[in-house]
Amino acid sequence: MKKLQMVDLKSQYEKIKTQIDAAVIDVIQSTAFVNGPEVHNFQKELEAYLGVKHVIPCANGTDALQIAMMGLGLQPGDEVITTDFTFAATVEVIALLRLTPVLVDVDLNNMNISMERIKKAITSKTKAIVPVHLFGRAVNMDALMEVAEEHNLFVIEDNAQGIGGTYTSKKGKQKLGTIGDVGTTSFFPSKNLGCYGDGGAIFTNNDALAHTIRGIVNHGMYERYHHDVVGVNSRLDSVQAAVLRVKLPLLDGYNLKRQEAARTYSNAFTGHKNIVAPHICDTCDCHVFHQYVLRIVDADRDALMAHLQEKQIPCAIYYPIPLHKQKAYADSRYREEDFPITNQLSDEVIALPMHTELEKEQQEFIIQTILEFMN
Ligand SMILES: *Cc1c(COP(=O)(O)O)cnc(C)c1O
Repeated sequence: MKKLQMVDLKSQYEKIKTQIDAAVIDVIQSTAFVNGPEVHNFQKELEAYLGVKHVIPCANGTDALQIAMMGLGLQPGDEVITTDFTFAATVEVIALLRLTPVLVDVDLNNMNISMERIKKAITSKTKAIVPVHLFGRAVNMDALMEVAEEHNLFVIEDNAQGIGGTYTSKKGKQKLGTIGDVGTTSFFPSKNLGCYGDGGAIFTNNDALAHTIRGIVNHGMYERYHHDVVGVNSRLDSVQAAVLRVKLPLLDGYNLKRQEAARTYSNAFTGHKNIVAPHICDTCDCHVFHQYVLRIVDADRDALMAHLQEKQIPCAIYYPIPLHKQKAYADSRYREEDFPITNQLSDEVIALPMHTELEKEQQEFIIQTILEFMN
């Protein structure tokens, strides 16, 4: 059996080596390293894939969030509501821009931001909500957009983990990241659409916002050497764009592989008294399984982790500490009783190997090892 890994980028590369190597060498030979045609072509191809009017590539998913917030004109002191259970980048950029992060609890069944908690957190200073499609699972966007519209709030979708996923809204099927005012993603190598370094993108259907953002990513320039706003330097480089152009047509197939692997896991674990496995949807792509995360209930999660590690099965905890408990984001307004679910999840979750190259034999070994230990 091949050695188990959380993510197997090497095996994935081996299958597309010829195209990737040729695409990368082409960029090097063209010397169009920055803002070359590859970046422009990738932008157009991603716009078509997502069915969104504007894609603005940038340097990484954290920048994408920051730039989206700058583009919306959010000002210091504005309150931005987001989930307590996400990667720190989401709240980091809010704090960095001197906006006020307002962390809220999540729902137990899908680990995504709680609509009830959002409603309770809204004040006269609230300007935006940042939902995160955590682990690749769609947030209930119909409910969220309704709350946002009612209170006149911007919605910035952090879709770093859910690219290619679909939400079936009242308006029909929409790609995740294209439903709010603006959406962002990351092309970090381990993400569902990963490049071979750092990369990110911002999406919007709003022409004016897209124009503003295109200037912000390029030092606030709309005309060469005229700096109209304070911007940043955040570019997707051409080598990464070339890699992404090879991989974008494979994304749906990659997500299908993840969903199949998730189904194999969930079929084995569903019904176990100490394991809560993610529900698998048979009719749509509402979950593209960036991570496959179990909850271990009324049992010793950490003992299971130690056992898996002993058996050379990698596993991880996303996320071991809710953001409201992190030193950088602590706020005297937060009360522990407002975060029962994130506190519970950080003790219960365990992520298993999940990637596009998982083999049946590997999954059987993982499943058997877990079931034997949990008996
Ligand atoms: C990965 C990730 C980011 C940041 O992306 P980078 O490209 O690493 O900067 C932001 N939000 C979430 C939810 C992520 O998973």
